[in-house]
Amino acid sequence: MTLSTYERTAKLEKMAGAPLDLLVIGGGITGAGIALDATVRGLRVGLVDMQDFAGGTSSRSTKLVHGGLRYLKQLEVKVVAEVGKERAIVYENAPHVTSPEKMMLPIYKKGTFGRFSTALGLKVYDFLAGVKKEEHRVMLSREQTLAKEPLLKKEGLKGSGYYVEYRTDDARLTIEVMKEASDRGALAVNYAKVDELIYDANQKLTGVRVVDQLNQQEYRIFAKKIVNAAGPWVDTIREKDHSKKGKHLHLTKGVHIVIDGKRFPMKQALYFDTTNGDKRMIFVIPRDGKVYAGTTDTTYSQWPIDPKPTAEDRDYILAAINGMFPSIHLTADDVESSWAGVRPLIQEEGKSPSEISRKDEIFIANSGLISIAGGKLTGYRKMAERVVDTVTRQLSEETGKTYPECQTIAIELSGGHFGGSKYYIPFVQEQIKGGAEQGLKKETVAQLVKKYGTNSSTLFHYLRTNQEEAIRYQLPQELLATLQYGLNEEMVVSPVDYFTRRSGMTLFSIHEAKKWAKPVMRYMADQLKWTDQQKEHYADELTASFRDASDYGSTNKDSETKAV
Ligand SMILES: Cc1cc2nc3c(=O)[nH]c(=O)nc-3n(C[C@H](O)[C@H](O)[C@H](O)COP(=O)(O)OP(=O)(O)OC[C@H]3O[C@@H](n4cnc5c(N)ncnc54)[C@H](O)[C@@H]3O)c2cc1C
Repeated sequence: MTLSTYERTAKLEKMAGAPLDLLVIGGGITGAGIALDATVRGLRVGLVDMQDFAGGTSSRSTKLVHGGLRYLKQLEVKVVAEVGKERAIVYENAPHVTSPEKMMLPIYKKGTFGRFSTALGLKVYDFLAGVKKEEHRVMLSREQTLAKEPLLKKEGLKGSGYYVEYRTDDARLTIEVMKEASDRGALAVNYAKVDELIYDANQKLTGVRVVDQLNQQEYRIFAKKIVNAAGPWVDTIREKDHSKKGKHLHLTKGVHIVIDGKRFPMKQALYFDTTNGDKRMIFVIPRDGKVYAGTTDTTYSQWPIDPKPTAEDRDYILAAINGMFPSIHLTADDVESSWAGVRPLIQEEGKSPSEISRKDEIFIANSGLISIAGGKLTGYRKMAERVVDTVTRQLSEETGKTYPECQTIAIELSGGHFGGSKYYIPFVQEQIKGGAEQGLKKETVAQLVKKYGTNSSTLFHYLRTNQEEAIRYQLPQELLATLQYGLNEEMVVSPVDYFTRRSGMTLFSIHEAKKWAKPVMRYMADQLKWTDQQKEHYADELTASFRDASDYGSTNKDSETKAV
């Protein structure tokens, strides 16, 4: 079953048509992981999200599949060991969205970490995370460090620790998990909001009322088990269920900024102490000709839809970069784009936002509602395993039926069906060769294969057949192919879904996104038969998303023009 935009209504009707074994509220990485795990174990699963898939926190992270080295400082040994080990599994199952990234931890006189503590910390990290031998940390001298990153502050530099993390595209990782779940039979629909919980006479939760956000159509969906994977909204659902007692969420906001690589030509991913004495660390990561940096960590108490970066957030990150790269002198005008996300952490009294544990926890209410809170993108598979273990244990007790153990350790995600990460590069090379034989440009094929993995053959099909349409809509054929794929296979509903979460253009090439906004809108309007009112709504939404990403306090005024 594909995740087609055109099948949204049919899927909602199917969910409403017969009771599910499991309904998941929330289509971020946590919900997607649960849907995949449960479907693989043979459950009939439905999932709804009130926004786009990954429209919440799961498109707004630092985009690292990492063990959380800094949690060692807080002695979170269990968290580090679990998510550290998960890195290799996430990579193995989806090497087209996750790639190893060498990370440098510079050591300075009077810095938080000395040479000895860095060497020891990274060794413990290697051990806890079960890091492969070839990826074990090495310690670099001052000269070796500067050879890898000549722009680093030289004063007081003693050397660095050099270790491997993994870089990902969080929104695409989520959509690949969701597509795999969908291919295996899960019914998943975006822009479908749970606005009411339904109970039986014994106050047991039996279903939900879902409202399709695109046409206000209502559905009553019943399920044997209901899981609340609503991220920053977990407590909102628990409040509806009258079960928000004891532990609750503490939301903290994190911001990232994006700078063009020509303006900031650093080449080595870095993790370092900020210089303002707040004992925090930030990442600076080169990515496809851009550099992104973050994050902040401040308590957040507003409604978590579309949190916005502020000038203060941006200036905090700029100051940290300028402190570590003294010859660069970045200013607000150099910031091309940015994003903000809200961490759904579990409250711990007396701790600052950065000190609160990232561990996850399951809450089971008297009504039967199962809520999962906290955690990391990296650990999504283990979180899903714990939730689905809970669900299947309860179902077994109630019905006597038995279910298999978790199997996702060996389940390749959509686009990741290479038969193992070692076959990924040979696959890319073979596709480039095959594409060239079909007259496709080498760079185009390489880009598509790296992004869509084993699904790229579908994109090549669009490329071979969309020439006329591309001319008519004045769109590059490659871009049109990704949009067609988005509509037919990735449930793209709005232009923001496409530009921000499927292509990442708003984040990493906002000028390109603005350039193609009008023809993309025209194509979508024709395909999805938008009314004038819908055209206006989506144009406003897209304009606002460009403005939020690039225009806070900046003197760059080009994003004030309406996108369409
Ligand atoms: C700044 C920042 C940096 C981070 N960096 C990293 C990192 O580098 N690596 C890492 O591993 N982790 C990182 N994290 C943590 C990680 O991003 C989160 O743990 C993860 O994305 C949470 O996913 P989720 O699915 O639980 O929540 P979400 O992605 O927010 O998904 C919850 C979904 O529930 C939906 N929903 C809510 N209410 C309803 C309703 N009534 N009906 C239907 N749907 C509903 C929402 O629309 C939303 O899409 C970072 C987080 C932040 C904020």
